[in-house]
Amino acid sequence: MDLDAIGRWSRHAGVPGMLVGMTGPDSAVRVRNLTKRYGDHQAVAGVDLDIHHGEIFALIGPNGAGKTTCVEILEGYRHRDGGEVEVLGIDPARADAHWKARIGIVLQSTKDFAELTPTEALATFAAYYPSPRPVDEVLELVGLTDKRKTRADQLSGGQRRRLDVALGILGNPELLFLDEPTTGFDPDARRQFWGLIEDLSGLGTTILLTTHYMEEAERLADRVGVIAAGRVVAVDTPTMLGGRGAAEAVVSWRGPSGPEHTATDAPTKVVRELAETFGGEVPELAVSRPTLEDVYLQMIGAAQ
Ligand code: ATP
Repeated sequence: MDLDAIGRWSRHAGVPGMLVGMTGPDSAVRVRNLTKRYGDHQAVAGVDLDIHHGEIFALIGPNGAGKTTCVEILEGYRHRDGGEVEVLGIDPARADAHWKARIGIVLQSTKDFAELTPTEALATFAAYYPSPRPVDEVLELVGLTDKRKTRADQLSGGQRRRLDVALGILGNPELLFLDEPTTGFDPDARRQFWGLIEDLSGLGTTILLTTHYMEEAERLADRVGVIAAGRVVAVDTPTMLGGRGAAEAVVSWRGPSGPEHTATDAPTKVVRELAETFGGEVPELAVSRPTLEDVYLQMIGAAQ
């Protein structure tokens, strides 16, 4: 997709001022015109991004959109072809051990340290950080105190993921990268995990997460960036993304001859009129607005 198409789409969808390219003095991450090519394939095609200190930023996009490539460049694990990147004020391509100690990384599901208990794994890795959090404090923070003496290969999937996060936050990072943190979690474990992420955010950690779960982005993120075909096509709060905040509501109910619905920007008025018409309860009444998933799918459709 070309830049003109992005501009056309954003005007069409009523995106309020496309925050792509916004600058600010308080950026934990600042990316300009980032590019990366694998052979003939342009995986990242000119990404601009700002992530503010203290925010939770979710990067969403379809498989192969370029999320992991971008994030790994920010983490200093992948070389870029072009563009400017600053993470905590430093170019990751030239970062030293001091900078590495200021960031935390939680990769997609790992199976390392299978024979170590959480206490042993954390104590081992604490030695690599200049000012690690106390092991007991980290265990408490991630809810693994009860499992501190259980071998990692005997932890459940959700507990194992908590250990991954524990290792990611052990060095007391200012910025935490979380790659698809809750893939494979049951709904209860996912909600508990969200609480953990919110606690970390409450302690002042800036968090960049990638996710395929719109509910997760909606619940956690201060802002969401949508990446498609190697470009950031929109950045906004979950409630405003894609003109969602200004979208019409759909009122639906069951009328005498079957289901009915109407789109309106005055749903309260419609509901009041329906209540009068029905003389009380309106059968199967519902008022809905586009979900984050609705606007996301619309954007991705427009971007491909
Ligand atoms: P997913 O949601 O599936 O994890 P993603 O958005 O993280 O996807 P990337 O992993 O960044 O996407 O991949 C972007 C594109 O670059 C894809 O087309 C992928 O096939 C390609 N790619 C990624 N890594 C390499 C590599 N090491 N060599 C060649 N091509 C690669």
